[in-house]
Amino acid sequence: FVRFQDVQKSYDGETLVVKNLNLDIARGEFLTLLGPSGSGKTTCLMMLAGFESPTHGQITLDGQPIKNVPPHERGIGMVFQNYALFPHMSVAENVGYPLRVRGVARNEMERRVQRALDMVELGHLGRRRPAQLSGGQQQRVALARALVFEPQLVLLDEPLGALDKNLREQMQYELKHIHGSLGVTMVYVTHDQTEALTMSNRIAVFDDGVIQQLDEPATLYERPANAFVAQFIGENN
Ligand code: ATP
Repeated sequence: FVRFQDVQKSYDGETLVVKNLNLDIARGEFLTLLGPSGSGKTTCLMMLAGFESPTHGQITLDGQPIKNVPPHERGIGMVFQNYALFPHMSVAENVGYPLRVRGVARNEMERRVQRALDMVELGHLGRRRPAQLSGGQQQRVALARALVFEPQLVLLDEPLGALDKNLREQMQYELKHIHGSLGVTMVYVTHDQTEALTMSNRIAVFDDGVIQQLDEPATLYERPANAFVAQFIGENN
């Protein structure tokens, strides 16, 4: 479905922050990019989203170099830690925005916005402004906005990082449920081992721009490939 082929990335022309990355993402999976700060996870997500291009190598989507697929045809939804909602728009307008820019008719738009808001259990708050919501609710709005145009791929960069522990656990559960019920492919960036182990079908452990191990959670936990993985997965567990 998505393939990174010999991908390298440097921002300054000297230091490689992603080094010779090869990665296949299967349709429908929940893949987590896990690793310490600065290990290159976000850079991989940005290249996948098309915000950054590889210095070397290529990324393909269904066999096509992603740079040749126009952004609106990639079907990629995104959720970031800081929500990035439009403050002057209502919740419903925020969620409807990706449909509006795609020229979806008003009736159809309202129906799909309501369905997306119901999915994140905010069906009753469409008229509010983002500032009138809690952090967890704002993050749900961001998720609804990423799902509303029925993307084939959703990229999430530390989406729960700003939330307190209880809410984070509750939203992990909800996100997993949404992933299961929609069957959409999700690529999730976190530095939190526990979160990764709970949520993922597979985890790619990053260190210093290199994937140290790519496996299912149980395998990573039971048979870490090297000392770095053992130590990183073992922390806080
Ligand atoms: P974090 O969890 O802190 O976001 P990360 O694993 O996602 O870390 P990246 O954000 O991909 O790591 O950063 C990898 C390296 O690239 C870091 O050394 C960072 O300083 C550098 N970097 C990231 N974005 C840029 C940029 N736009 N310009 C220059 N350097 C950058």
